[in-house]
Amino acid sequence: MHCQVAVQIRVVTQFIFVADKKREEVEWSGLSTDFLKRLEKAGYPPSSVDYVVCTHMHSDHVGWNTSFVDRRWVPTFSNARYLFVRQEFDSRLQNSAAQNDDVFADSVQPVYDAGLVDFVPPDHVVVPGVRLEPTPGHTPGHVSVVIEQGGHKAVITGDMLHSPIQLAKPRINPKFESDPTLSTKTRLAAFERWADGGATLMIGTHFSYPTAGLIKSVGPETYTLVTSVTPEIVGGAA
Ligand SMILES: [Zn+2]
Repeated sequence: MHCQVAVQIRVVTQFIFVADKKREEVEWSGLSTDFLKRLEKAGYPPSSVDYVVCTHMHSDHVGWNTSFVDRRWVPTFSNARYLFVRQEFDSRLQNSAAQNDDVFADSVQPVYDAGLVDFVPPDHVVVPGVRLEPTPGHTPGHVSVVIEQGGHKAVITGDMLHSPIQLAKPRINPKFESDPTLSTKTRLAAFERWADGGATLMIGTHFSYPTAGLIKSVGPETYTLVTSVTPEIVGGAA
């Protein structure tokens, strides 16, 4: 997913793709897609990317951090700064060691070794109009990405929710949460914040089509997504 703000500054966030890596999940292991070709076709070759943001470091969100070149994993976006939240980095390192998986080794360590990592706070301003917002619970250092321009606002959720069902029932947690209690608290606070004013475009990272809509309060702890959003309504926000 990409967005463009201000003067030709490009930010790449979120990789659902796994980029030809061995994974425990059968449907993801060895998965290879034409993501980079499509990104380039859209006008964003990897060499043009300035910043890479990972909302968190589960395997389905760090895949394109690296590519396999000359028998080793190297940063895909060699001219970018990779903005990592330290707490998330440390948590992924510990989990990969405990679970004996390759995620840290093939998708995080090569970027760090190449000197491309900047550790940032979870409320970091990436560029004017693009900032991180801490949304912990799914993982310890999880962040969402807020994009604001011309009075419009959009939020790339990451995995602080996985389904629009959690808008109607924010206390429902999937089994993946590192801290379900904190995850619920995060969702309730964030939904209240984002629904205020009724003009925040939510872009759900794991939502099926339509993936985006305006978040709206319809009762106590109850929200919905208005998905009949036109370009005129969202303006240049996403
Ligand atoms: Zn996740």
